[in-house]
Amino acid sequence: MKEFQLIEKYFREQGLKRKDVELSIGDDCALVQPAENKSIAISCDTLVENVHFLPSIPPRALGYKSLAVNLSDLASMGAEPAWMTLALTMPSVDESWLASFSQGLFEAAEYYGVSLIGGDTTRGPLSINITIHGQVPTGKALKRSGAQNGDWIYVTGTLGDSALGLDILRGNVSVSAEHEGYLINRHYNPTPRVLAGQALRTLATSAIDLSDGLVSDIQHILKASDVGANIEVDAIPMSPSLLESVSPQEALGYALTGGEDYELLFTVPESQRGAIDTALIHAGVKFVKIGQICPGNKLKLTLKGEPFEPTFYGFEHF
Ligand code: ADP
Ligand code: MG
Repeated sequence: MKEFQLIEKYFREQGLKRKDVELSIGDDCALVQPAENKSIAISCDTLVENVHFLPSIPPRALGYKSLAVNLSDLASMGAEPAWMTLALTMPSVDESWLASFSQGLFEAAEYYGVSLIGGDTTRGPLSINITIHGQVPTGKALKRSGAQNGDWIYVTGTLGDSALGLDILRGNVSVSAEHEGYLINRHYNPTPRVLAGQALRTLATSAIDLSDGLVSDIQHILKASDVGANIEVDAIPMSPSLLESVSPQEALGYALTGGEDYELLFTVPESQRGAIDTALIHAGVKFVKIGQICPGNKLKLTLKGEPFEPTFYGFEHF
């Protein structure tokens, strides 16, 4: 199968056609018409086989996840998803793989309102690069740099599931059949918090999506905002599947340092605290307060009010 046939069959004739796409796949460039008074938010992520995903990942999950991780970046800025390009590098043309991959990709694309408007197809070790474009009212994007002393720190969803899911897939841990499916699904099919991000635009002072693990990602907010933080480890939200599958210490290790949760961490001033409940009610995601921004530039962890010294799983790089 020739490159152009492949593009035609699996990518061009698929998915959502947004009205603001003037010219899509087929020319040298795509043309889009941004909405008035909006800034374009752009981000790209590459997933390389054996580096970012195991060869055993089902292609449909890979297609879904490739877009989901990009959408998570838009979510953390409060941007509305719009267009994407796909650079696909594959060792050979495997039509059943392509069918499943594109199915997963377009599932996410349709759900979140994204049109595929172009890309590139090359031969080589399997890797997927997506550039996502979103729109955000000019001046309203959530950044890492706005956290203020006294702001409350929140996270969405539950943390640590994806990292445990990956450990199960790697054969490092085994858990009951009851929890295995849930944990692996959280690793394969993360839910980008797109609506939550948009709802937080006028309320949060800063936000970031958790891709590398809470302890590591929050440092970006501390650095960009020039503040410190206290996190109450007892408040970290964890799923029953995580808590019932490993020891309490290990569960905390996964939740604090495990990557790929794609939940949002955000900061909210006291004056807006009451408003978040209403704002996030339609976003379909739980969220919980886990700490507070403080002066300085350090992250402090406490457990039941006492300083918490992480000495267990996952803290090697600490
Ligand atoms: P060029 O030689 O100008 O780079 P290509 O032959 O690579 O053009 O691509 C032809 C058209 O197909 C372009 O519009 C490009 O954006 C699109 N395209 C190529 N690969 C993909 C892909 N994997 N997914 C979506 N669109 C693609
Ligand atoms: Mg090309």
